[in-house]
Amino acid sequence: MSRNAESTAFRSALEVIRAVEPRVADAIGAELTDQRESLKLIASENYASPATLLAMGNWFSDKYAEGTVGRRFYAGCQNVDTVEALAAEHARELFGAAHAYVQPHSGIDANLVAFWAVLADRVESPALKKAQVRQVNDLTEADWFALRRELGNQRMLGMSLDAGGHLTHGFRPNISGKMFDQRSYGTDPATGLIDYDRVAEAAREFKPLILVGGYSAYPRKVNFRILREIADSVGATFMVDMAHFAGLVAGKVFTGDFDPVPHAHIVTTTTHKSLRGPRGGMVLCQPELADQVDRGCPMVLGGPLPHVMAAKAVALAEARRPDFADYAQRIVDNAQALAEGLLRRGAKLVTGGTDNHLVLIDVSGYGLTGRQAEQALLDSGIVTNRNSVPQDPNGAWYTSGIRIGTPALTTRGLGTAEMDQTAELIHTVLAQTTAGANADGTPSKAKYTLDPGLADKVARQATDLLATHPLYPAIDLG
Ligand code: PLP
Repeated sequence: MSRNAESTAFRSALEVIRAVEPRVADAIGAELTDQRESLKLIASENYASPATLLAMGNWFSDKYAEGTVGRRFYAGCQNVDTVEALAAEHARELFGAAHAYVQPHSGIDANLVAFWAVLADRVESPALKKAQVRQVNDLTEADWFALRRELGNQRMLGMSLDAGGHLTHGFRPNISGKMFDQRSYGTDPATGLIDYDRVAEAAREFKPLILVGGYSAYPRKVNFRILREIADSVGATFMVDMAHFAGLVAGKVFTGDFDPVPHAHIVTTTTHKSLRGPRGGMVLCQPELADQVDRGCPMVLGGPLPHVMAAKAVALAEARRPDFADYAQRIVDNAQALAEGLLRRGAKLVTGGTDNHLVLIDVSGYGLTGRQAEQALLDSGIVTNRNSVPQDPNGAWYTSGIRIGTPALTTRGLGTAEMDQTAELIHTVLAQTTAGANADGTPSKAKYTLDPGLADKVARQATDLLATHPLYPAIDLG
C-alpha cells in the first residue's frame, strides 16, 4: 500500500468519526501519538499492520453469524463464510494444524472453548453414550444431574502463576479455577527452569484430565514432546496455550520438540501478541476434537465477530510471508540482546536469560518491588509491566519482577544495538530508584524516589531512540 493510501484511509476515517463525536476522533489520534512516543516493552503487545487494522473497521461488524462456515443459524452469511474460511485456512497452513477455529474473541475465550471441548469429548459424550441418548436434552433429570456433577469435578494440571503460568490455567480468580480441581507445577528453584521429572511426578499423583502447557512469563523454550509423553502416561489430554509465543511458532523459530502444534491435542492462542494480528483468539486441534471445538459458539462464546475474523485472515496471510520468519527471529535476537545488556550491567534475570521474546528482571536485585520499578520506568517513558517471579515474596500485586518483551519494538524495526541502549536506560532508572518508607518507618512496597531530572533525561533519550524507527511511518494524520 502506498504512503498516500494509508494516510488517506486513516485521515478519512477520523474525519467521518469526528463529524459524530469529535472526542472519540481526538482520542484515537492521541492514542497513535502515545504509541509512537512510548518505548513499549509490554511482552504481550504489538503493532498490527494498517491492513489488519482497516479490515476491522467495516460493515462485517453488523452481521450475526452464529454457526460455522456453510452451516449458520442466520441467513446471508456468504461473505462471512469467505473470511472465516480464509482465516481458518491460513491458520491451518501457517501452523500445520489439522483444524482451526477462528471465532474466539480473546485468549480467555479460546481457553474456555478448549476446556469445554475436552470436557464434552471426555466426560459428556461417554455419559450420553452410556445413557444411550443423542443429546443432553434427552437425559433424565437424574442422569443430567449426575453429568453436571461429573463435569464440575475434573482435574487440571498447569504451570503455577509465579513460575509464569496464566490465570486461565485453573486459578481460583478465573472461571477455570472454579470449574476444575487444579494443581500446579512450578520451576526448579535453583535454575528457574521447568523440571520435567517433577511435572511427571505431579501428573502421576494427581491424574489430571487436562495437562496444560504454555505461559505468560516464562523466558525459556518448553519441550512439548516431553509434556505430551507425560500427558499420555496418565491418560490426560494435552493442551497448550501458546498465546505469548504464537509468533515464534508461526515464524519457525520454535520447531521440533518446541513447536506445540504436532504434540498437543489442542492448542489455543491469542492473535494479537507476537502473532501481530487483531485482538482475538483461536483454537487449533487434532481432528477428533474438531466437532466439539466448533461448538464454541454458542457454548461459551457470543456470536462471532466477522470484522475481526476478516482482520485475522489478513494478519495470518501476512504471517505466512517469508519476512515474518525474519521478524520472529529478530524478536528473539532482540530479547537476547536486551538480556545480555541487562546482565552486563548487573541486573538479575530469572533463569539468567531468555530463549524467547521476553525477559523477566528480578528487581529485588535493585532493592525494589515490581510495583516501584514499573512506576519509576513509566516516569521515564518506558512502558513495562510488573510480574511475579518464582516464589515471589511480594505476592501477585506488588511482585518482585518486571516483564519486558520485544515483539512491539521489533515491529518498529529496532535491532540489537538499540536493545543495548534500551538495557542502559532500564538499568539507569532502576539503579537510581530508591525504595521509600511508610509513615511509620516500615519499608513501603509502593513508594519510591527517583530524581525527576533523571527521569526526564531518560524519557528524552527513549524518544530519541524511537525517533530513529518511527511507528507507522506511512501514516500522517496531519
Ligand atoms: N493466555 C495467556 C498465556 C495469556 O498470556 C493471556 C493474556 O495475557 C491470555 C491467555 C488471555 O488473553 P486475552 O486477554 O486475549 O483474553
